[in-house]
Amino acid sequence: MKFPALAIAVLFATGILAGGLIAPTLPHAFVVTVAIAFASLLLGLLLLRKHVTLALFASLLAWCLLGASAMLVERSALPSNHVRRLIAAGQLNLDEPLRWRGQLRSDPLRLPWGIRYDMDLDQVQSAAVWTSVSGGLRADYFFDQRAGEAPPALRAGDRMEVLMRARLVRNFADPGVTDHRALMAYQNIYLTGSPRSTALIEKVAGPPPRIVDWLARARGRLLTEADAMLAGAPGSAAVARAMLLGDRSFLDSQQVEAFRDTGVYHVLVLAGLHIGVLTAALFWIGGKFRLSLPARTLVTLAALGAYVAVVEDRAPIVRAASMAAVYLLGRMLFRRTHLLNAIGLAALLILVARPSELTDASFLLSFVTVGVIAGIAVPWLEAGTEPYLRALDHLGDVTRDGAHSPRAAQFRLDARASVNWLAARLPRAASPQATALVTLPCRAGLRLWELLFLSAVIQVGMIPLMAQYFHRVSLVGVAANLPAVPLTSIIVPVGFAALCTGLVWGALGHALGRILAALVGALLWSVAWFARLSWASFRLPSPPSLALVAFFLAALLCASAVLTKRRWAGRIAGAVVLAAAALIAAYPFAPRLNRGRLEITVLDVGQGDSIFVAFPNGRTMLVDGGGLAGGFYIRGARPGIDVGEDVVSPFLWSRGLKRIDVVALTHGHEDHYGGLAAVLRNFQVGELWLGPNGDSAGFFALLAEAQARRVPIIHRLKGDAFDWGGVNVDVLWPLDDTPVKALNDDSLVLRLKDGNETILLTGDIEKRVERALTADGEPLSADFLKVPHHGSKTSSTQDFLDAVRPRFAAISVGEGNAFGHPNAEVLDRLRQEGTRVYQTDHDGAISILTDGRQVTVSSFLEKP
Ligand SMILES: [Zn+2]
Ligand SMILES: [Zn+2]
Repeated sequence: MKFPALAIAVLFATGILAGGLIAPTLPHAFVVTVAIAFASLLLGLLLLRKHVTLALFASLLAWCLLGASAMLVERSALPSNHVRRLIAAGQLNLDEPLRWRGQLRSDPLRLPWGIRYDMDLDQVQSAAVWTSVSGGLRADYFFDQRAGEAPPALRAGDRMEVLMRARLVRNFADPGVTDHRALMAYQNIYLTGSPRSTALIEKVAGPPPRIVDWLARARGRLLTEADAMLAGAPGSAAVARAMLLGDRSFLDSQQVEAFRDTGVYHVLVLAGLHIGVLTAALFWIGGKFRLSLPARTLVTLAALGAYVAVVEDRAPIVRAASMAAVYLLGRMLFRRTHLLNAIGLAALLILVARPSELTDASFLLSFVTVGVIAGIAVPWLEAGTEPYLRALDHLGDVTRDGAHSPRAAQFRLDARASVNWLAARLPRAASPQATALVTLPCRAGLRLWELLFLSAVIQVGMIPLMAQYFHRVSLVGVAANLPAVPLTSIIVPVGFAALCTGLVWGALGHALGRILAALVGALLWSVAWFARLSWASFRLPSPPSLALVAFFLAALLCASAVLTKRRWAGRIAGAVVLAAAALIAAYPFAPRLNRGRLEITVLDVGQGDSIFVAFPNGRTMLVDGGGLAGGFYIRGARPGIDVGEDVVSPFLWSRGLKRIDVVALTHGHEDHYGGLAAVLRNFQVGELWLGPNGDSAGFFALLAEAQARRVPIIHRLKGDAFDWGGVNVDVLWPLDDTPVKALNDDSLVLRLKDGNETILLTGDIEKRVERALTADGEPLSADFLKVPHHGSKTSSTQDFLDAVRPRFAAISVGEGNAFGHPNAEVLDRLRQEGTRVYQTDHDGAISILTDGRQVTVSSFLEKP
């Protein structure tokens, strides 16, 4: 086997995926898998002499089973006093403020809108009793730094106390939406909250700082140094913080968007490129000092270790550093290691330590990127352009001609002929330069071609994962990376040199800082230039699984053909890879809808409303887009989640949608329109329906966005009625569109009638409108009701519910919201009507499907 480590890593990964499917409650699952794993290993050893194939099979099985057991161990590894366990067992009540105590994990992080404390908890006080607790907590204190408010001076490792209402990391239980809770748990953050004043944050006595705390303080010191060095250019300082120390919190949204559009966002995420550049720089310096190979390796490894220890955003950098370490050690011990084996071994080590990393987008992106470099791009170039580059060496020496392949030898002869032709025509003094005049441009051209090819291979290799996880394809990536990657390779070593000298000798550090600022400025300029092209990138739905499988299978075949030097097989597989990538990017597939049925999905958008409607004839409508406090930008940075970008859009993409026929906004409140700007940006929208205009800046920004995209804006009023593929749509409210202050009672009320089944969508209407609707004599009875105004006590009056008599109802409401929604009396009233009530905070997304005769209701978190 040429790549044993790679094969074992793949088997182990398969085992992890299988282990994820085993129910963790299954008794002794772990013991059984480990026992079978060892039995098969033993069997493999016993059979090794006589039945090699069987032995191989047994050991393959063993690795796979070990993967599964690693996954099982990880999932059951939460300690008994872990916050998650205490909350699940009802031992902690998160509805009230509690006093949390723990050690500060890093220096308090200054953010554009406040300050962040990440703590490792050790105690919590509830009802005057201190209980031991473990797990991580993030406290964000919102304040205006310019107002001169001073939070307590704290450093990494200090023990602190904060009194606040903490809550579990907010999750959105919708199909296709990232599991934010898992993502944060991955960074060991389980609870979040924001203390209301600095008086609630206190330093308390604790143990002296440990080594990790000193390292964290060093990071804090370096961040301050980076800011001081680039004080004149805040934009560059934010980028330098990200590129050198992994802190992306100061990047403003437009910068981030520009880097994403142009496919160069990876330079802001500390990973392979940065580690590669640093390793190469350190190795080169070691060479200058004439160190032996082992000495250079060890010095480089030590420096990389120190770097990993001080940077933020650990996972990707640990991955890249372990790959570099395995490769360097391999080179030192065995002289030559194939990069693919190093990659396999590094992946195996990481997965043994943390099996769940396998499903992490950035894990997959790093390994796929280095995989296509080592498996396809480099061997392809070695067979393609390298012979020509070598053919240009010692061009004048005829005796070397025979050592080259026929094509390269011919190239050599041609080059020599050109040199002779040129030398005869140059003035005598310049004729010795003829060789250089021919070979230099040839070399430059070949190297440029290699760079382009490498960049193209990486961009194509990333298409499926970028589409799956980020729903984005960059069309200028190949070109935009050409300046960005070389600039990054200079910025990283120069930046570190500047930071380190700055700590020792300020003046020299600042001089280097000026060079750094110029380099970062050049990077920003090049990115902005490419981002200005309107077609730089586009958003797209999640690719069908079959296209993903086809892509990766073809890529594997391509790599194996290229590595075994089967040219034509490699070219054919390469063409299949390109075709699969093009298919994923163009997405010619039909949306995943239930044709012939009416579907209404009430999304879990936290506190707010967003309802997706698919009509039997394939038309689509989105009623409201959710919107959470904190989803907006404060001085360029976003403290919270943009529900439109992070929740509603991914849901729509998971259904294969690129276009929404109608976006309807019920009324001008932020929890309804907040997410719509992102929907307008990310999808082709047919029409925008409104009731009366709202009155806030955000509402007018939305209108401007719609106008800029030439989306027709239509005001819908009571009495409007249409027929869409057999479904009657009636507008029951509002009465007129005279612009007033945005009110709940402005809400657009829609009734959809499919055969015998009626659906009533009510926005945030309150008593007054409910009364007006019932007084109207309008037949209100409905099989399904979107309960008005998040189940508040100001709505869902007895008369209204008596008129509607819904069989099913959905309340769109945020978990533990501050308004006390839904109201207990409203729930009682609904129950008395005999209604089956679903709530997005408990059930996740709620889907209603009807063929006009029958209704079925299901929810994302449905418990059997
Ligand atoms: Zn609302
Ligand atoms: Zn409202």
